[in-house]
Amino acid sequence: MSDLEHVPALIAGAGPIGLACAISARRRGIRHLIVDAGAIAHSIVRYPVGMNFFTTPERLEIGGHPLSCSGAKATREEALKYYRGVVRTEGLNVRTFTRLVAAERREGRLICRLITAARPELVSCDRLIVATGYFDHANRLEVLGENLPHVRHWFDEAHLSFGLDVVVIGGKNSAVEAALQCFRAGGRVTLVYRGAALKPSVKYWLRPDLENRVAAGEIATRFGAEVVEITAQHVVVRTTHGSVELLPATRVYALTGYHPDFDLLEAVGVSCDAATGRPGLDPETLQTNAPGIYLAGSVGAGRNISEVFIENGRFDGEKIFGDAASRQQAERQYTESPRPVGE
Ligand SMILES: Cc1cc2nc3c(=O)[nH]c(=O)nc-3n(C[C@H](O)[C@H](O)[C@H](O)COP(=O)(O)OP(=O)(O)OC[C@H]3O[C@@H](n4cnc5c(N)ncnc54)[C@H](O)[C@@H]3O)c2cc1C
Repeated sequence: MSDLEHVPALIAGAGPIGLACAISARRRGIRHLIVDAGAIAHSIVRYPVGMNFFTTPERLEIGGHPLSCSGAKATREEALKYYRGVVRTEGLNVRTFTRLVAAERREGRLICRLITAARPELVSCDRLIVATGYFDHANRLEVLGENLPHVRHWFDEAHLSFGLDVVVIGGKNSAVEAALQCFRAGGRVTLVYRGAALKPSVKYWLRPDLENRVAAGEIATRFGAEVVEITAQHVVVRTTHGSVELLPATRVYALTGYHPDFDLLEAVGVSCDAATGRPGLDPETLQTNAPGIYLAGSVGAGRNISEVFIENGRFDGEKIFGDAASRQQAERQYTESPRPVGE
């Protein structure tokens, strides 16, 4: 075991918060390694092509590096370029396409199991910071046909819907936004949601847009409708009155939310509340019940994924690596961040 690679701080997840944690460590002279199962900022890679952030650019910044963009809000592409630039400028040590799969204590050392290109690897560390977000784990409908190739759990690009019958499933921002974009790209869209009405958290600029399209007969909706099956040509829904309807669909977006990787948290020894999925965390230091293991960013909020965003999670590295004064300042910055609009 003595020949294992050792790093003082191993950070799993090169999202905005994992990168911010690495900056906090590096600026204190703590050597770090960031591993990411995908590319840098892989959750943003998964955003729809051309998407605009709702947050103003200065609140997406990490490490004090300015984010400049051509419009009032950054696009997905500008944000990716920005985070790449931060990694270069700060000289962060990132290993992409390397997944953390487990961690355990052996002979008093914290040993992390990684998988790179299907090859297992062990790295020991003093502190493991899990900053793996939630966006790679979709809440599934668990219905027949959900794995068919025309069913997506991430909204990719509206252009692909041109001329198609599209069913979008969900009642929050991502579903409403996808429905509007697919309609504008020439898709025949039906929005299906099991609730009686859209979620109150739907952004104030999306709601009237959708309502106007529905009133004009341009987008169809089925509220109080539960998806019971997806076939190659249809989405089968059952209403609260028990009637069954076959909605034509050759493209389906099931946008019913996401959740942290609870299996990974269990595999590193972090306990979560059974009902909320919320891990036990010291709010000041973000230390978990597992000695040496910390959670940063949106993974720390359990199933309540609307609680921690880039704009308020980006100070977490200061809580983990900073002294009492840095922690207090990070808490102030967190508290002063505007409450984000739910996803
Ligand atoms: C469409 C959309 C729009 C959004 N707009 C905004 C906005 O305007 N403003 C805002 O503040 N927030 C916004 N958010 C939320 C924001 O994306 C998240 O809050 C933010 O990405 C969380 O950052 P994070 O670093 O905690 O996690 P993530 O950005 O999700 O990063 C986690 C990283 O961990 C990696 N990973 C996962 N599992 C492993 C593993 N086992 N081993 C190694 N690496 C792993 C992933 O590949 C990923 O790169 C938006 C989200 C979506 C979906």
